[in-house]
Amino acid sequence: MRRVSAAMVRHLAEFDARGLPVVSVYARVEVDPGDRALGTHAGSLLHDVRQQAAGGGLTHSGRLSLNEDERRIFDALTQQEWPAGTAAIVSCSGAGLYEEVALSRTIRNRAVVDATPWIRPMTAILDEERSACVAIVDRGGARVWTLAHGELHWAVGQRDETVRKPDYGGWAGLDEYRVQRHATELARRHYRRAADQIQAVCTANGCELLVLGGHRQELPGFVEALPNDLRARLAGTIASDPRTSTTEDVRRAASAVVERHEEDRRRRSIGEVLDTHAAHGPAAAGLEDCLWAGTLRAIATLLVEQRVEAPGVICDHDHWIALAGARCPLCGRRTRQVPDVVDELVEAVIEEGGEVAHISADDTPLHHHGTAAALRFVLPPRPS
Ligand SMILES: [Zn+2]
Repeated sequence: MRRVSAAMVRHLAEFDARGLPVVSVYARVEVDPGDRALGTHAGSLLHDVRQQAAGGGLTHSGRLSLNEDERRIFDALTQQEWPAGTAAIVSCSGAGLYEEVALSRTIRNRAVVDATPWIRPMTAILDEERSACVAIVDRGGARVWTLAHGELHWAVGQRDETVRKPDYGGWAGLDEYRVQRHATELARRHYRRAADQIQAVCTANGCELLVLGGHRQELPGFVEALPNDLRARLAGTIASDPRTSTTEDVRRAASAVVERHEEDRRRRSIGEVLDTHAAHGPAAAGLEDCLWAGTLRAIATLLVEQRVEAPGVICDHDHWIALAGARCPLCGRRTRQVPDVVDELVEAVIEEGGEVAHISADDTPLHHHGTAAALRFVLPPRPS
């Protein structure tokens, strides 16, 4: 089963359905493998699809495409094994689109029939899950994993949990000072080697974050020895005894570090954007301003609370997006109704190479606005 990736989200955001309906379905998958709920979910989700399509005035080819979408989605949900989380399927058979991905987080069941894929839940999860390199280092060796989608994958180092004892036997005749100096030099060399391994794992797996673990008293020395670009990625450290900590201990502790780090990063970026907005700088706050900024392709980073959702309109000619309006004020053409204007905005930002950060906490200063954005330039006034 594929996992969501930036490339996939981009592909979906840029997909051209040539006027055919696109079906996006998200179905909860429970942890219990004996659970048969997915079949029930599939039934009610496809019922939603048919209801939405009934009001849409479909062409003959649109109808054929939709029938094929329904069949494939039903089969995928009822006949395949899905990991716990959410099964996501986006299909537009008539235009050759079919993507199924397993999302690691559980979101509510949802079916959307629209002219474009509904991708918000995927972008939210992608944003939450920047992949991290996790390294447990001590003087006996380094173990390195990658952490993505809540799963730890072994990358390099000692695969088993046993740690070699440092060999002090040969130093019996040395005085304590020399032993100490020798040990420090060994540690330094070992740390350099470990840093090289971590660097290689980060490069090979595109890890943006680093979590370091080890003995509490040895960690500061190792952090000190890190090259600058690795230190810049350091999300946090975990005190871990390599002899007793299991892979599951490491996974849980590292996930918590990454979560806390990402939460802090989002809060910081909310503060910065709202400060800029208050100072009349290049920033937008509130859905209407953000939609206008999205129309002008002005958004560098969009911050959006997950709860925010609103029906609205879009102009297919120049991509004017707004909450309401039968005609586009830019070109005078008739607009098209969309079920969730925030999803259109998210797509527009991704298409232009901007970033989207989804905020799940409701106790941040963003709560008052719902959405805010760091802009590439100060906005001209909105057309009335
Ligand atoms: Zn227009």
